[in-house]
Amino acid sequence: MKTVKLSIIYPVNKITAPIVSTLIKKYNLEINILHADISLTKVGTLVADITGAESDIAAALQYIGDAGVEYRIFTSKLIWDEKRCVHCGACTAVCPSDALTMSHEDWSLQFNREKCVVCGLCTKACPLSVMSLA
Ligand code: SF4
Ligand code: SF4
Repeated sequence: MKTVKLSIIYPVNKITAPIVSTLIKKYNLEINILHADISLTKVGTLVADITGAESDIAAALQYIGDAGVEYRIFTSKLIWDEKRCVHCGACTAVCPSDALTMSHEDWSLQFNREKCVVCGLCTKACPLSVMSLA
């Protein structure tokens, strides 16, 4: 079994394509949706972890491409240099997936890697360059 983090970009004319249901039913994949921005009137994006047999994932990616829908596999990950973080919270305001939140107990920054969609917005928002992509 293998897991890849995938961004699927739906053109407006493909917004109703049954991509996710086909990945589940036809390719036996588990889909953990991390972020979705889908509407009938604009380009849609969906970020998900997909888990399954390597051959099924490869066949599913071929299916997505053949359906005229773009996808991107995340190869980088976010690095948080926690020792240098001053917990100002600026990065939480730009994080689209709630991977970055402030603790209500001590107002320290909390990072939930499972929710991170590796968009990189926090790397630009941090005044101390504590966040980086690697
Ligand atoms: S890269 Fe940063 S802003 Fe983007 S989802 Fe991950 S933690 Fe949030
Ligand atoms: S913006 Fe930078 S210093 Fe501020 S909480 Fe986020 S990572 Fe820490």
